[in-house]
Amino acid sequence: MGDSIVVVQTAFLGDVVLTTPLFRALRRCHSTARIAALVTPEAAPLIEEDPHLDHVLTYDKKGGESLRSAVATVRAQRPDLLVSPHRSQRSALLAIASGARTRVGFADARFRWVYNRRVPRSLEQHEVDRNLALLGGLDCAPDASDRWLHVGYTEREAQAVAAVLREAGVAESDRVLGLCPGSVWATKRWLPRGFAAVGQHFAARGWRVAVLGSPGDREVSRQVTEAIGPAAVDAAGATPLKALAAWMDRLALLVSNDSAPLHVATARDTPTVAVFGATTTGLGFGPFHARSRVVEVDLPCRPCGLHGGKTCPLSHFRCMGDLSPEAVLAACDDLLESVP
Ligand code: SF4
Repeated sequence: MGDSIVVVQTAFLGDVVLTTPLFRALRRCHSTARIAALVTPEAAPLIEEDPHLDHVLTYDKKGGESLRSAVATVRAQRPDLLVSPHRSQRSALLAIASGARTRVGFADARFRWVYNRRVPRSLEQHEVDRNLALLGGLDCAPDASDRWLHVGYTEREAQAVAAVLREAGVAESDRVLGLCPGSVWATKRWLPRGFAAVGQHFAARGWRVAVLGSPGDREVSRQVTEAIGPAAVDAAGATPLKALAAWMDRLALLVSNDSAPLHVATARDTPTVAVFGATTTGLGFGPFHARSRVVEVDLPCRPCGLHGGKTCPLSHFRCMGDLSPEAVLAACDDLLESVP
């Protein structure tokens, strides 16, 4: 089944990265099918090099593109099968209007009736496994080999990263710590002074530090970079999003909030210490590679939301305020000791 398959995932960047195992599994089960993914224009660079996809389609919903236009994009693929890990009303409307005979979605999706194969969504599972569970709606059993994220890049992005580091005087032999202090959600951001303290510690050990992020993270990146001093490189917005995977391959260690770079690091198997505040790994979005550690504070109010909110509902923000640089550094040391 499925000469033409479309996967609809127009959620956040990290959600798209966590959908890449589903692309891999669909390719394994449908080796000759044309497989396309519909994502936002922002997320498209993250999957452009995915070998399991034939097409990356975009739907600029934030930019005001109409649903009618997105439907036309999907219908042009003449899909036999549509799979939607995204549970929104818009994705459901897209599914029903796509012309696909088989439409697979979650049983708790909005307008779930449009999916003629509905799959239960377990809150206990990692998001990767939840997405792979959609295969249960098809004759395609998940395989352990599917459970790996994929984010690729080209020589062009590798060169862009090398140029930023060269300009900052970073030698190829230097060990580089990456810091990702940004997040779309404020309650998922560890305090800038925490990131700065970690950066200062590694700088004192002779490491260089790259502070990474999107153009929207420039202010926090500047603060952290300045606090660390000359060992730090302010790289937020310095390279396109697609270069994020190339950055990960250059890092000896990453310290990140629960945000998209964390998932890109998982895809590249970069040693990673993840800092969790308003969210918890129990929600299903934690790092799952062996070269990772999670640092968090035990509080009864955690988690206080699926994504983390804009402000702490209890006003004290202890989930991040109580999280000490010492705890993060201990996790870094523990991880580095275990990495060959
Ligand atoms: S309520 Fe608790 S988990 Fe949520 S932001 Fe505040 S301190 Fe963090």
